[in-house]
Amino acid sequence: MLLTTTVGSFPKPAYLVKARNLYARKKISQEELEGLERKATKEIIQLQEDVGLDILVHGEMERGDMVTYFAERLEGFEISGLVRSYGNRYYNKPIVKGRVKRISPVTLEMFQYAQNLTQKPVKGMLTGPYTICDWSFNEYFDTRRDLVLNLAEVIHQEALDLDKAGAKYIQIDEPAISTRPDELDLAIEAMKIVTQGLKAKTISHICYGDFSTIYPKILDLAVDQLDLEFANGDFANLDIFRDPPFSKEIAVGVVDVHSHVIETKEKVKNNIKKALEVFPLEKVYIDPDCGLKTRTLEEAKAKLRVMVEAVKEIKDERGIK
Ligand SMILES: [Zn+2]
Repeated sequence: MLLTTTVGSFPKPAYLVKARNLYARKKISQEELEGLERKATKEIIQLQEDVGLDILVHGEMERGDMVTYFAERLEGFEISGLVRSYGNRYYNKPIVKGRVKRISPVTLEMFQYAQNLTQKPVKGMLTGPYTICDWSFNEYFDTRRDLVLNLAEVIHQEALDLDKAGAKYIQIDEPAISTRPDELDLAIEAMKIVTQGLKAKTISHICYGDFSTIYPKILDLAVDQLDLEFANGDFANLDIFRDPPFSKEIAVGVVDVHSHVIETKEKVKNNIKKALEVFPLEKVYIDPDCGLKTRTLEEAKAKLRVMVEAVKEIKDERGIK
């Protein structure tokens, strides 16, 4: 109970940021870059072991943008120049030019590499079909629904591969859901396809938006667990989930990834206690609000240490093993 985890991304070490720039300018080979991505992944697994997290992530050292990473590796996409969205987020927006197909598994190799480094479970990490569609230009399909359902089949194949490889948890991130509540039914239809027949526990991380526009409808999303941010808004959104009661597992964001400030243990304990007033203990997981990639490695580690210590004290106080 109260297992600790993270949403997915970790900050890239300086040597990897430099290597990615050199690779973009064709100054180093793909093999050299991949070697450094593996070195960094190993360090991120070690960091999580040191901190004492229960469920690990591979850290996304090989990924830039969570949508472009997939689009670049799938047939049917071309990649545009830099486009701005969500404030200061710049990315190479994918353009759909034909039916989307998988050429080979996209995430499997890195998942297997990371899982082989640790006895603890490592989550398989996918971007959901709705978010891939929403953050791309569609120049091929007549409707967004046609594109989303095509992408759902592709992400389903990827999820099946992770499942067969023994992933205990598969996370399918859909951050775009809460920014387009009018299309929630479509996102729900697509997720049913993605998670169909999986043995792994399935999770979806959603952020950016106002959860009151998607709750309780979001409980129809075909995953076992939702992973949501709370700390950034100081748990003001918690009341949304009181009525009707939350029926899935929930990973509760208890540290703010947008702030340099390291929360105190008392603050984080208080956050966890607030969550436990609304969500049943046996269904609660504890993690940061969102991916940690915008923090420094030191900040990320410090925030996670406080989080793990806070969980430990709450477990001790309540006699939970
Ligand atoms: Zn997020």
